[in-house]
Amino acid sequence: MAIERTLSIIKPDAVAKNVIGQIYSRFEGAGLKIVAAKLAQLSRAEAEGFYAVHRERPFFKDLVDFMVSGPVMIQVLEGENAIQQNRDLMGATDPKKAAPGTIRADFAESIDANAVHGSDSAENAKIEIAYFFAESTVHSR
Ligand code: UDP
Repeated sequence: MAIERTLSIIKPDAVAKNVIGQIYSRFEGAGLKIVAAKLAQLSRAEAEGFYAVHRERPFFKDLVDFMVSGPVMIQVLEGENAIQQNRDLMGATDPKKAAPGTIRADFAESIDANAVHGSDSAENAKIEIAYFFAESTVHSR
């Protein structure tokens, strides 16, 4: 299985709940390594740019409002099959539909305040990592 990198964001709801460490434990328990990380307050422009693919969707404004409502913890995860592994750890977008034991089932309140983001493809992982981290600030280990 290939070693991949994926972008993960712990969203404002989960940062506010003080569960960064519990979520990091899940990444580490699955063999994913944190190879870059920063706590950041996104600007509207940064949040809009990050979610530009959803610009025409009805929930776009609410999504941006939510993403700038408080600090987020942004990290690059590295490991075997990291993109799908992280998606599996996260669970379904709607926490009501997320499998028991997933991050969203355990920490998310609703489809809009859903605790975490994770890249959904190799192509998007590359774009999303570059959006937040210069290559020189990502440290494989
Ligand atoms: N979202 C929302 N309402 C919806 C669908 C999505 O607020 O009806 C938000 C939600 O925060 C989700 C994000 O938009 O995580 C991106 O949606 P996507 O379908 O890409 O889900 P994800 O990849 O995050 O599971």
